[in-house]
Amino acid sequence: MTNQETIFSKIIRREIPANIVYEDDLALAFKDVNPQAPVHILVIPKKPIAKLADADAQDAALLGHLLLTAKRVAQEAGLKNGYRVVINTDADGGQTVYHLHLHILGGRQMAWPPG
Ligand code: 5GP
Repeated sequence: MTNQETIFSKIIRREIPANIVYEDDLALAFKDVNPQAPVHILVIPKKPIAKLADADAQDAALLGHLLLTAKRVAQEAGLKNGYRVVINTDADGGQTVYHLHLHILGGRQMAWPPG
């Protein structure tokens, strides 16, 4: 699946509501509707890259921006003791929404390995 319309495109266009915590020209961050931790925020590019495996060298700066956005959003959420950033990628990665996204999970002790 590549660059298909998803529910996240609708969130970017404000066609469906979301609890948005950060936005700039390239990225949007909003609370996950089904949180898996006390803090669970998604960071997405506005560019509809379906999955990490579809990103290429042209996306290098954008991918870096998404990580720095995750850091910023985590700081603003008060995650002083740390947090986890996850990118589920394609079927075996457990991806369900095919618009690249970073999960920021925090506010509790994380386990390893993940399920
Ligand atoms: P994935 O499983 O693809 O890595 O993560 C997709 C995430 O998107 C899930 O954690 C799911 O709860 C979240 N999600 C799916 N639909 C919506 C929605 O309409 N609004 C919000 N805020 N999160 C959503």
